[in-house]
Amino acid sequence: MKFPKEIRIYCKYCKKHTLHTVEISKKRPRRTLSHGQRRFLRKMKGYGSFPKENPKGREKSVKKVDLKFKCKECGKKHSHGKGFRIKKIELKS
Ligand SMILES: [Zn+2]
Repeated sequence: MKFPKEIRIYCKYCKKHTLHTVEISKKRPRRTLSHGQRRFLRKMKGYGSFPKENPKGREKSVKKVDLKFKCKECGKKHSHGKGFRIKKIELKS
């Protein structure tokens, strides 16, 4: 799917429709100080099993992408919805 690099949508900070630049959000490293991640690291220490069995045979072939929109007037970034499943995405000008 081709998606425009610039799009005119509502900015909740400016409270009106403004021009936004679009970017695909990347995966970030996990926060090692969060409670769940600390628990996970403790569990993974030493010998022992993975806390939850990996689901097998039902891996989804299409990954979710999340788009971030940056307002050109106030410079704030926000997302729109929870992302959607798509095989391939391309930003075109
Ligand atoms: Zn704005």
